[in-house]
Amino acid sequence: MRDTGGLYIHIPFCKVKCPYCDFFTAVDQEHLVEQLVDAVVLEVARSDADAFPYAINTVFIGGGTPSLLEPRHIERMLLAVGDKYDLSAVSEFTLEANPGEITGAQMVALRELGINRLSMGFQSLDPGLLKFLGRLHSPDDALRAFAAARKAGFDNINVDMIYNVPDQPMEVWQRDLQRLVDLAPEHISAYSLTVESGTELAQMVQAGVVAMPDVELDRKMLLWTRGFLGASGYSAYEVSNHARPGLQCQHNLHYWRIEPYLGFGPSAHQFNGRERSWNIRHLPGYIENLERGESVVAGSELLSQSQVYHEKLIFGLRLSEGVSITEALGFSGSAEFVAHYGPVLQKWEGRVEIDGDRLLLTDSGVLLADAIATDLMVSLPGHVQTQDAMPTAKA
Ligand code: SF4
Repeated sequence: MRDTGGLYIHIPFCKVKCPYCDFFTAVDQEHLVEQLVDAVVLEVARSDADAFPYAINTVFIGGGTPSLLEPRHIERMLLAVGDKYDLSAVSEFTLEANPGEITGAQMVALRELGINRLSMGFQSLDPGLLKFLGRLHSPDDALRAFAAARKAGFDNINVDMIYNVPDQPMEVWQRDLQRLVDLAPEHISAYSLTVESGTELAQMVQAGVVAMPDVELDRKMLLWTRGFLGASGYSAYEVSNHARPGLQCQHNLHYWRIEPYLGFGPSAHQFNGRERSWNIRHLPGYIENLERGESVVAGSELLSQSQVYHEKLIFGLRLSEGVSITEALGFSGSAEFVAHYGPVLQKWEGRVEIDGDRLLLTDSGVLLADAIATDLMVSLPGHVQTQDAMPTAKA
């Protein structure tokens, strides 16, 4: 059986730019929708299907706000993808949608196209917090969109929520999550708000206009969220992601397990198991290059074995399944691993554990996932053979 991989299409359009967002987006450029769709179709048609010898089992249309496109646009891109790639193994087919920016009729049409999972950006059910987050929808819009998605036949829905928002008391987060659990989506992504450089939020924090919550409250919210969602039937299979049994997002698992994926659209990344490349983060530039028959790849890097180990460690530790000591990290077994990492494991005693071949974080370790991964990584290169460290970068 062939290894599996995912396929991603990036649709950058958004009605407004949320102050915390650092995704590549295009605001007020919906007049370019037809051209973007033409360009994605061209990019897919010109791609080298033979260079991706994996069975595609997930498709994810993300953004941006893909629900701003009409279903006929989605259909055109999917026909192009289907002409080039074998989609017969696809079992999970996700599209991202914002409440208030998708109609019931659109949802029915998307369902008919084979999209079987909807990812909805609620972010909050509190009107004041939605305003702070720059969202255009109201709590009622979110609830209405959810009901419409169920009516359209979506039985696999993710809802994105954000905590650690300035002036968000613990009780408001608890109330919002309770309301969400009452709706019973299949998957809940609960992200801690982070200040990404270059965003409006970063400027506001820097200028002292906004103060981020205390780190202790952030940790308290994370622990409470894991406990509450766990008790409500959603297990935390990744630090920020919770799912009913068997309904984990298979597409995102490709990213977190450092498995291959294709990517189309401006800013999209591709990874073939060894080399990662990424497209131009500029909408007119992306379109024009494709119209001129030129490449839209902005850069690429060939991952060394050492980099692959690093990435598998960083992302794998965030998964409840942990990371394989032999397959992912290249040790002969847990004895060699323990011998190599003795002092680091001692330092993080009680926060990491070894279960057979898997290295895992405990509940208290989850709070310090990044620090632990960094510590382990520092020690990793001494062990790893770097036969092929040849990063490349295009202009
Ligand atoms: S709607 Fe989503 S992608 Fe668009 S700006 Fe807001 S957070 Fe970013």
